[in-house]
Amino acid sequence: MEEIGLKFIIKCLPVFILGVILFVPSALADNTVKRIGGSTRYDTAVLAAKQSWGEAKTVIITGGTSYADAIAAAPLSYQKNAPLLFTNKDQLSAGTKKGLIDLKTKNVIIVGGTPAVSKNTENQIAKLGISVKRLSGSTRYATAAKVAGEMTRSSTALVVNGFVDADGMAAISYASAKKYPILFTNDSTLNGSTSNAIKSLGIKNTIVIGGTSSISSSLYNKLPNPSRISGKNRYNLSVNLAKKTGLSTGYTFVTNGFKEADTIVGGVLSAKQGRVHLLTNGDSLSKDVRTYIGSKNITSFTVIGSASSLSNNAASQLKNPVVGKTVFIDPGHGYQDSGATGNGLLEKNVNLDIATRLNNQLYGAGALTVMSRKGDTFDSLEERVNKGAKANADIFISVHANANDNSSANGTETYYDKTYQSANSLRLAQNIQPRMVSALGTRDRSVKTAGFYVIKYSKMPSVLLETGFVTSPIDANILKQSTKKDRLAAGITQGVSSYFR
Ligand SMILES: [Zn+2]
Repeated sequence: MEEIGLKFIIKCLPVFILGVILFVPSALADNTVKRIGGSTRYDTAVLAAKQSWGEAKTVIITGGTSYADAIAAAPLSYQKNAPLLFTNKDQLSAGTKKGLIDLKTKNVIIVGGTPAVSKNTENQIAKLGISVKRLSGSTRYATAAKVAGEMTRSSTALVVNGFVDADGMAAISYASAKKYPILFTNDSTLNGSTSNAIKSLGIKNTIVIGGTSSISSSLYNKLPNPSRISGKNRYNLSVNLAKKTGLSTGYTFVTNGFKEADTIVGGVLSAKQGRVHLLTNGDSLSKDVRTYIGSKNITSFTVIGSASSLSNNAASQLKNPVVGKTVFIDPGHGYQDSGATGNGLLEKNVNLDIATRLNNQLYGAGALTVMSRKGDTFDSLEERVNKGAKANADIFISVHANANDNSSANGTETYYDKTYQSANSLRLAQNIQPRMVSALGTRDRSVKTAGFYVIKYSKMPSVLLETGFVTSPIDANILKQSTKKDRLAAGITQGVSSYFR
C-alpha cells in the first residue's frame, strides 16, 4: 500500500508543480483564488490557453521577450478568438510546440519580425503541418500598424508609448473589450507608420494610455479627437481602466505588473473571459488594487504566473475575506491624556503600540487601514468618531487598556454598543475576544456592552478592546512584551478576518 502511495505521489508531483494549482479555500467563505502558473512564461501561456480555449484553430505567437509585439497582438488575439503563445527566438520552445499540438492548431499568426521570432522557428511551426502567416514591420510601430490593419475597422484607436510596456499591458482587456487596435508612438513624436495607419484605417478618435511622461501634451494635441486615461502608477492605471471597461469582476484577473509575459497573458485571458484585469505589486497587493476590490466586493480571483511572479503572500491576501476592507483603528487617549497608569505603563503608549502592530498585521493580511493617531497626539472622542466616518470604514476598533484600584483585577474584555449595528458589533466582538485571550494568556472577562462614546456614535460595526489591566502586575508584565503584543495583533487580525468570512 505504501509503495503505491509513494509512486502516486512521485508521478503526480510534477503535475501539481507545473499544472493549474487550485487553492482550496480553508474555510467555506474564504475568497476563491485560482492560480494559472507554469514553470516558464511559455508554459504559463500554454496552460492559460488550454484552460480557456481547450482547442484553438488559430494561435498568435510572439517572441517571449518582445512585449511590444505581444501588446499590439493582444486585441487581435481577442478578435480572432486565438490564444497568444510565446516562443524563444531561435527555436520553437518545447512547451509551446506541445501546446500547439494539444490545442490542435491549424493556423499560426506570428506577430513580429525575425529578430523576435526567427525564420528557423517559423519553419519548425510549419513542420507541424500548421499554416503560418507573419505580421511584421521594420519597427514596433510598423508591426502594430500591421496588426491594426488585420482587425475589424474601428474609428477609435488606443495610442500607447511603444517603449512603456506598463501602459500597453494594463490596457489589453480594455482595448480588446472595446475592439480598439493599439498603436504605438514614442513620448513626443508621431511615428510615420502610426500616422499612416491613423489615416488609412480611418481613425477619428484616439485614446492615449498613460500620463504626460508616456505621451507628451504636444503629441497628444496632434492626435485626432484625443482623450487620455492615465494613473499615478501601473497599478492605479489598471484600476482606472477597469472602471471604464464595464467588465465583470467575477474571477477578476490579478497579475504582477512588473512581470510582462504573465501580465500580457492575464490581459488576453481576461479579455477572452470578459473579466476585469488588475496589475499589482507581486509581493503584497497594491493599495489601489485593494481599494477597487473593496469597492466592488470582489471575492473570486484568477492569478497568472508562478509564486515567483505573483507571490503566495499576495495570493493569500486575495484569499483573505478582509482584502480591501477598511478597518479604522483608534488607539485610545494620547498626549496630555495618558489614560490609565500603573506598573510603569502609560495606557496611551500601550494603546498606540498595540494599534500600530495591529495596523501592520491587518495591512499585511490585505486590509486597508486608517488610524485615528499615529503618534502621541490627542483627538476628542467626537473627532475620533468623525475620522472613522470620513474614512468610510467598514469596522471601527478602539484599542484600550484597563485599570482598577484593586491591583488583583486582571483580564481581557471586549465591549460593543447596541445603538448602531448591534448584531454585527456583537459578532465582531465575539470573533475578537477569544483570540485576544488565547494570544495573551489573560483571564477571559468576556464580551460586554457599554455606551462608550466612540462605539456608541460610530455608525459602522464597532468594538472597544480592553486588552489588559495596566494596574495588574500580571497583565502589565504581559503588556510589556513585544512578542505578546505581536501575538495579540495577529489574534485580533484573525478575528477581523473571521468576522468578514
Ligand atoms: Zn482607555
